[in-house]
Amino acid sequence: MQKTNTYTLTNCTILTVDGSDRFFPRGRMTIEGNQILRVGHEHEIPLAGEIVALDGGLVLPGLVNTHTHSHSSLFKNQADDLTLMDWLNKAMWPMEAHLNAQRAAAATALSCMEYIASGITTYCDQFYFAEAIAPVASKSGLRCMLGATIFEKPSVETEDSFAAAIAFVEHWLGREEETLVYPCLGPHAPYSVSAAQFVRAAEFCRKHDVLLHTHISETQDENDQILAKYGKTPTQWLESLGVLENHVLAAHSIHLDEADMRIYAKRNTHASYNPVSNLKLVSGRMPYRALREHGVQVSIGTDGAQSNNSMDLLRDLRTGALIQKLAENDATLFNAREMVRLATIEGAVALRLDGQIGSLEPGKRADYIVLDTKSPRLVPLHRESLSNLYSTVAYSACGADVRNMAVNGKWVMKDREILTMDCDSVRNDAQEASEYLVLHSARA
Ligand SMILES: [Zn+2]
Repeated sequence: MQKTNTYTLTNCTILTVDGSDRFFPRGRMTIEGNQILRVGHEHEIPLAGEIVALDGGLVLPGLVNTHTHSHSSLFKNQADDLTLMDWLNKAMWPMEAHLNAQRAAAATALSCMEYIASGITTYCDQFYFAEAIAPVASKSGLRCMLGATIFEKPSVETEDSFAAAIAFVEHWLGREEETLVYPCLGPHAPYSVSAAQFVRAAEFCRKHDVLLHTHISETQDENDQILAKYGKTPTQWLESLGVLENHVLAAHSIHLDEADMRIYAKRNTHASYNPVSNLKLVSGRMPYRALREHGVQVSIGTDGAQSNNSMDLLRDLRTGALIQKLAENDATLFNAREMVRLATIEGAVALRLDGQIGSLEPGKRADYIVLDTKSPRLVPLHRESLSNLYSTVAYSACGADVRNMAVNGKWVMKDREILTMDCDSVRNDAQEASEYLVLHSARA
């Protein structure tokens, strides 16, 4: 008996998304335990362990979704076509008021099911009830960076979200290898968290070397509020508090001025681009080109299902690139290679997991997906052409084309069948929980 599970993927095309853009039209990849042992051309890689023939599938690194709120899958399709304030006041917050640990867990399971079905192997979450949802994330087999939300006002979970968040991180920290849950703090946003709480959160994150996952400058209204209150932009206010000296991931990052972008670059603040959510709520457009020109690191996220309705990161990637091209009147902006990198290795960089995931290289963790090249969206496929492969992933494929997924070497989905979850129970629990929320929320 072998001590570690070894298998070799064959009969496939492999796009590694590594620093040298290596790709193998007829490739093989051997996985040993949770790591990639070898990746290369068919004739270079001996068949070792179990042989897994992939019917010509296209193998690439698993997608990394750097901003989401998994609890909100229960709110899906309940409050569309509203203005931001009506959406929050009349629909989101009344429903959120009826969440509890059990319903948050049901929502998270549903979200994980959709992440898997869409090719997302790693997601960066932010919500309350972190202690209740972390086991669900862990059981799903996905890699999850989970930011326990901190909000100045009492939350649906607790009077003191700060204390709950600290307790969660202390409980889960150091067990990432076993759980695949990377705990961190999620102070919500400059308009919902006090200066004192931001400072305390930043000190805690520095001490424990964990991510600080927040929202910055999602709307013009937020900027106006913070300017009126503190006389600074949200970015400059956070900088004055010393918060940006941390490893910070800032969702949205839309309404940034030149000085803000210089601060992002100086502090290595990571921006998560959430194009579909930003379009739906008419929040604005991230200044993508300007951020890149300032040297700011950008990745991509779906945001929650309440402001996206779907967790299809590949589709969002295409939308995100297209709106930037149109707005900048430049079809060459944000090319297919850059798009694929944004959803894989750049996401890994944002979470500081790029030493482990984000590309297919020996020694890295085996987090990968296989696209079904029989899907009409993927035909014709020119396996010998790197640019054609990047374009196929960036522009043609969608989540439904993901046929197989493995995380940390273990199969999570095979031939579209999710192996880590009881999908019928997940569906039933989520349906029941969502019906409860709709019934009990006092909708205007
Ligand atoms: Zn968000």
